[in-house]
Amino acid sequence: MPLGVVKLDRMAIEEAGPNPERIAASIHAQLALLSGPVPIHQVAEALDIVEIRQAPLKGLEGALVSAAERDIGLIVVNSASSSQRQRFSVAHELGHFLNPWHKPVEPSERFACRPEDLRKSWGKPPPEVSHHLFQEGDANRFAIELLAPQKFVRPFLRGIPDLTSVLRLSKTLDLSREASARRYVELHDQPTALVFSVDGVVRYVPRHPDFPSVLYQPGQRLSEPPSPVDKSRLSPTRKPTLAIGWCGPAVTP
Ligand SMILES: [Zn+2]
Repeated sequence: MPLGVVKLDRMAIEEAGPNPERIAASIHAQLALLSGPVPIHQVAEALDIVEIRQAPLKGLEGALVSAAERDIGLIVVNSASSSQRQRFSVAHELGHFLNPWHKPVEPSERFACRPEDLRKSWGKPPPEVSHHLFQEGDANRFAIELLAPQKFVRPFLRGIPDLTSVLRLSKTLDLSREASARRYVELHDQPTALVFSVDGVVRYVPRHPDFPSVLYQPGQRLSEPPSPVDKSRLSPTRKPTLAIGWCGPAVTP
């Protein structure tokens, strides 16, 4: 989509209320796109974000500066992050900007969002969670619903869970592999789980609610980390590895 052609009615979007899924759906109802990637920068600008700035941020992934009345806003994203991560950060900050329930934690009109905030689950948070954590999860839910709405993801969910589908989804939506994988697991009919690790240590294990259990827990060292097969650093697919698992009938590699 060429620059400058996105026009959105913000008042109509605000009628969706504070629910992040409804806000994102309201934007998509106006965009009427058939597939991704969502032109997130133009969408933000069409909704009164007057500037999206890239800057080297220490300890932050993104920030939103706006007055209390949220008439206009400025988004800053970490220039050291990948373009896909920056796209998610823009969507996350836009989620704070559009949600009337979101308030800055600091005593200023600034949302300062750390990498761990943007990694938080976009699932429904437990009732005892703090306001800060609640709204960070909320902003992530908005971001994923905006960048990877179900109608865009559905064509990739056919057949058995497969990491090649995740890679195609990532490329088509210009969404990070990690966010694509989490969205894929969330929406796939077949209960699936993923183990994310760094240097052989489990970071977290997103899984479908119906996936029975996963042996690995965050912080635990993987005993047999899957070996990368090429420069993509992905382990072989169509094989029950630690990187992706599914329950159901046995699958022959
Ligand atoms: Zn945030």
